[in-house]
Amino acid sequence: MKKIEHIGIAVKNLSQANGLYARLFGCEHYKVEAVESEGVTTSFFQMGETKIELLEASRPDSPIAKFIEKKGEGIHHIAFEVEDILAEMRRLQQEGFTILNEQPKRGADNKLVCFLHPKSTQGVLVELCQEIKEQAAGAE
Ligand code: ZN
Repeated sequence: MKKIEHIGIAVKNLSQANGLYARLFGCEHYKVEAVESEGVTTSFFQMGETKIELLEASRPDSPIAKFIEKKGEGIHHIAFEVEDILAEMRRLQQEGFTILNEQPKRGADNKLVCFLHPKSTQGVLVELCQEIKEQAAGAE
């Protein structure tokens, strides 16, 4: 793994949270993006090399809605950047970690992503993400 790419924070109200975090960080979010497959709307703040991703549920059965129901608002996941997500998924499987999706999914911010089950990582939801290369995106 290369670095912490972003930290995901579950919020109830994205526009309210965007305002609050803009005051906290002293800068505005640089994008808002919906990920329909996950039932979330996200916004991103750039913090040097790392980002903060705010996540709001866009429908009641969204994993974010369930998370907030159970645990309240707060840190939801930590995302690590990897060079080759398939190789990293294989390696982590061999190390005994439980991967939540068999194939990488398309996430927000031009990334292929997968998640590790928090039961296998001491309660932390870990996301792996790999930047989608321009040619690969165009070839789809
Ligand atoms: Zn994320």
